[in-house]
Amino acid sequence: MNHATTLLMKEFVTHDVIRFILSRPEGFTFGPGQGVDLAIDADDWRDQSRPFTPTSSSKAGVLEFTIKIYPEHAGVTQALAELEPGAALTISDPWGTIGYRGPGMFIAGGAGITPFLAIVRHLRDERRLAGHGLIFANKTAADVICEKELRAAFGEQAHFLVEHGATCGFEAGRVDEHLLKRRIEDWSQRFYVCGPPPFNNAVMQTLQRLGAQPDALVFEQ
Ligand SMILES: Cc1cc2nc3c(=O)[nH]c(=O)nc-3n(C[C@H](O)[C@H](O)[C@H](O)COP(=O)(O)OP(=O)(O)OC[C@H]3O[C@@H](n4cnc5c(N)ncnc54)[C@H](O)[C@@H]3O)c2cc1C
Repeated sequence: MNHATTLLMKEFVTHDVIRFILSRPEGFTFGPGQGVDLAIDADDWRDQSRPFTPTSSSKAGVLEFTIKIYPEHAGVTQALAELEPGAALTISDPWGTIGYRGPGMFIAGGAGITPFLAIVRHLRDERRLAGHGLIFANKTAADVICEKELRAAFGEQAHFLVEHGATCGFEAGRVDEHLLKRRIEDWSQRFYVCGPPPFNNAVMQTLQRLGAQPDALVFEQ
């Protein structure tokens, strides 16, 4: 089922990521980490839905989406970036396999942080975030979504990696065997993994090689 919604406001979170605040359709509920198919309700765009993840607390009165814009695709994300408040959109019922399954380590690449933003905000609101960790990989420090909020939420257990321009608070490198061996002590915990498909494949293979149980991996299937 599709739900009608309206753009209330938008603002930049990073140089190419925008936070969109939408009205919350009556009766619409979702589990933190689930995605929806979102479309702009206008000629030429109505049939072009794309998957995005509500990043707001599941109890909030509005819906937030945190969306990386790809101008070079000339697709939906670019069209979203050009919308003005008042624009009409539709969202599907929620779907997806990412959800909270218990304490563990969140491992994200780039915009793959979005399902974890929803889960982390939910856990933080319920004061249940202790005992969790974060490894968040990006190209540069300027690409990191919600850095301050994540540092505040995870404290010493937040680890930020960048491919280029490592500086104070950002380690140089990628999520590889060397990094995981240094950052993970408990191999029996859950691992939440989300990023581009090559990131997911590489990280999950490495985790399992190092001792993570296949049924302890939470990812979009
Ligand atoms: C479950 C799920 C949840 C997601 N949640 C989020 C989220 O919360 N936030 C977020 O930012 N992203 C999220 N994504 C990713 C998001 O869906 C894509 O970034 C989005 O669909 C891109 O849409 P687009 O129309 O801009 O581009 P696309 O649909 O990727 O491309 C549009 C057209 O551009 C062309 N194109 C494609 N790649 C290139 C390229 N490299 N160079 C030039 N042209 C190209 C193709 O012709 C294509 O038809 C999620 C994905 C999934 C699967």
